[in-house]
Amino acid sequence: MLKAAFPGSFDPPTLGHLNIIQRAAGIFDELLVVVAENRQKKYLFSAQERADMIRRLAGGRANVSVTVCDSLIVDFLQKQGVKVLIRGVRGMEDFSYEFEVSMMNKALDPAIETLFMTTDPEYFVLRSSSIKEIASFQGNISGMVPPLVAEALREKYRAGGNGA
Ligand code: ADP
Repeated sequence: MLKAAFPGSFDPPTLGHLNIIQRAAGIFDELLVVVAENRQKKYLFSAQERADMIRRLAGGRANVSVTVCDSLIVDFLQKQGVKVLIRGVRGMEDFSYEFEVSMMNKALDPAIETLFMTTDPEYFVLRSSSIKEIASFQGNISGMVPPLVAEALREKYRAGGNGA
């Protein structure tokens, strides 16, 4: 059984994240999507909301499960018995950041192997932060996120609010 984890903020999940989830689930026997809950970060959606959205979007795949993690990812993976950590890469900027994070994780736990999965070209501009900005101006995000995420964003930014 080869298990992998795909950790991230997913605030909110985009078509780019779902593409990585689908492709990774096609390679590994089990894929655990890990929704990060970092007290130092400010999220638009709660960890539960982010996890629920991913469950509804990826729930059709029997080998994908979703969980929330509020500790160090390497400690969490060790407890879960997962050694492969997947990260998506959209370009050189992502790569240089992800490379540093992978070195840090390797220093924390040499047993963890980070594998990078390049984005599919049609998703390469998709970024949760930009999508939130567009949504906050009631812009059209329909080609960037699944309908249920678009609806959740509309709800957060309803009546020109700031999502708070
Ligand atoms: P972070 O936790 O660093 O803010 P995200 O939660 O937005 O990152 O994303 C989780 C992972 O998904 C990261 O590895 C990120 O590079 C990857 N990712 C995000 N958007 C895309 C995309 N459009 N295509 C491929 N990978 C992506």
